[in-house]
Amino acid sequence: MSDIIHLLPDSVANQIAAGEVIQRPASVLKELVENAIDAGATNIKIVIKDAGRTLIQVIDNGKGMSETDARMAFERHATSKISSADDLFTIRTMGFRGEALASIAAVAQVELRTRREDDELGVLIEIAGTRVFKQESVQCDSGTSFQVKNLFFNVPARRRFLKSDNVEKGHLLNEFYRIVLVNTEVSFSFYDGDDEIFQLSASNIKIRIENIFGKNSKKRWQQQLLNIETSTNLINITGYVGKPEFAQKSAVQYFFVNGRYMRHPYFHKAVMLAYSQMIQATESPNYFIYFEVDPQTIDINIHPTKTEIKFENEQAIWSILSAAVKESLGKFNVVPSIDFDQEGAIDIPSNVNVENVRPPQTNFNPNYNPFTTSYKRPTLDWEQLYGGFEKKKEEPDSPSEGQPFQSSMSIESNDQQQTFENIESRSENFQFKNRYILTGIKSGMLMIDQQRAHTRVLFDLFMIQMENRKAVSQQILFPETLELTPDDALIFEQMMPDLNRLGFEFEKMELNSYSVKGVSSHVGTASVVNLLLEMLDKTKNTAEDISASLHETIALTLAETASLKSGQRLTSEEMSDLIDRLFASANHNFTPDGKKIMTIFTGEELDKRF
Ligand code: ADP
Ligand code: MG
Repeated sequence: MSDIIHLLPDSVANQIAAGEVIQRPASVLKELVENAIDAGATNIKIVIKDAGRTLIQVIDNGKGMSETDARMAFERHATSKISSADDLFTIRTMGFRGEALASIAAVAQVELRTRREDDELGVLIEIAGTRVFKQESVQCDSGTSFQVKNLFFNVPARRRFLKSDNVEKGHLLNEFYRIVLVNTEVSFSFYDGDDEIFQLSASNIKIRIENIFGKNSKKRWQQQLLNIETSTNLINITGYVGKPEFAQKSAVQYFFVNGRYMRHPYFHKAVMLAYSQMIQATESPNYFIYFEVDPQTIDINIHPTKTEIKFENEQAIWSILSAAVKESLGKFNVVPSIDFDQEGAIDIPSNVNVENVRPPQTNFNPNYNPFTTSYKRPTLDWEQLYGGFEKKKEEPDSPSEGQPFQSSMSIESNDQQQTFENIESRSENFQFKNRYILTGIKSGMLMIDQQRAHTRVLFDLFMIQMENRKAVSQQILFPETLELTPDDALIFEQMMPDLNRLGFEFEKMELNSYSVKGVSSHVGTASVVNLLLEMLDKTKNTAEDISASLHETIALTLAETASLKSGQRLTSEEMSDLIDRLFASANHNFTPDGKKIMTIFTGEELDKRF
């Protein structure tokens, strides 16, 4: 038998290696823009077409390449950035592996035009699937222009693997944000076809953040950014953290180290800790935190697409970081917060006596407990009943002289489907704490959480409306404007058909802005913009493939917003109406997100208590 092992042809080997570096249009964008930055560009223009499938172009005014270098640049492991293994530990440039261009050229059609400032003529190179088709002198601007066309033209499997245009565009924008948030001294423009998406002039970090995320609502961003700054011999930390009241469901959170984006779940916890007690558990703060450390003390993962980075002094940095965030939140507390603008504000020295800094506070009370409000109903001593119940729940181990309430009180009927038929006909409903509806049923007493019940009822209704287009629209007299960032606008466009069916009406204004002309008749017109933003947030936070759960997310957010709230007084008719509608639902036991709507105290259990 002949030998069976052979070397792969270069073209195949390159394609395989390319898969490591180039996974989607966004990876091409990242590599090209990082190269432009490494080349000292001060102005970078990006053009994409069809979410980068047909074109990704990056034009820079950097130092350009000689003809030989331009040709060499496409060779694997060709780099001008390091020359020995030692250099790996002092890397300051974005690239260093010399693999990106080789990888891109293996899976796309590439046109490179480049000229050094002092050269009279530049060079044009056309290369596709690693083969060079053209190399000639051309007249061109100084700097470099890369056009990457028809990505994965020769790897159909990879092409099919790409997601929808909106998803790919989202990736492109995320990659763009990660780069422009660091390189603020460089001006950037970003075009989707002929549409200008971003025009960012050279500025500082704060203005860059505002220009990107506050593109259409700058004020919101101007008001929320608090400076953070700490300098120790281990690490310098600078950047901005958002005020607690601007925390949101899907916050904008960035860590950078030595000019490179990184993910770091452990340091993330340090930041979150500083905010604990100040924000709700479901929300998190915006932050943009920049580390500068001795490159020798970190291990920038050699894998090109990974963004995790290991630190030598992780624990110490954790403490420094958490303290730095706490300090700036503390400072904010002693400065008037109305229209607070860092730029104009008096700079409070960071060496203020820490003892005098009051712990950060917000109006949110994490200990809020609706049971403790002073509602009195003299005939039945419900408070006492529940007071005991609650206490028992908290201290399950304490010795009890009476019945073990916990087990006896919260026993649930196994057969709640039967509940509705058993509701004693027109038995009086009783609203407890303006939060629960109590009603007699044959087997005992039913207790319904009014807010959750209404959420379920509305959710079912909205789901039906989305399928049947039956909703009534309520016109807004003075239409409000919804202004979105480009990536949010992409998601919003996907939600739009569903929202239309629910009675929302929009008119597209300029890029990424929409005038809200009508709303679902179940929602007040007052805070419709906030509602839509919240809905967007939730949608972004759900599965990677948004379309899969889009209906549910929209219906649930809307239901949660429009539902009557705990604390709302209900008339007897309103209570029976809600109960009727709840039991008309096939899923009356749980809310769409799985929270218990009702519980039953059986007659037997109640009897035992006397
Ligand atoms: P790396 O960035 O890791 O060195 P690349 O494959 O991305 O590897 O690039 C190879 C080389 O091509 C770089 O080291 C650099 O010398 C050159 N190069 C790439 N892009 C540019 C550019 N926009 N301007 C000038 N030189 C560039
Ligand atoms: Mg590179």
